[in-house]
Amino acid sequence: MTPIRCCIACKTRKQKQDFFRIVADNEKKAIIDKKQNINNRGVYVCKDKKCISNLEKAILKNRVNLKIDVESNSILEVLKELGEEVWEN
Ligand SMILES: [Zn+2]
Repeated sequence: MTPIRCCIACKTRKQKQDFFRIVADNEKKAIIDKKQNINNRGVYVCKDKKCISNLEKAILKNRVNLKIDVESNSILEVLKELGEEVWEN
């Protein structure tokens, strides 16, 4: 059975592979967990431009509890990268 996860932006529940997974490394730097196998707490966000930009806004306004120990600047960089990836598809 595939694990079900929840988007941190829109709270939709979906299968794990339908999300982007972001984890924090030991230096609190956000990394995209492309294979979804990094053994560290992660956050999930839909592969959707809207969710990515809503999450960016929430982070900038400090309105989201990410539940992972990560620097906001580094997660914002990662989200920018993911946003560009979504445009291309
Ligand atoms: Zn979402």
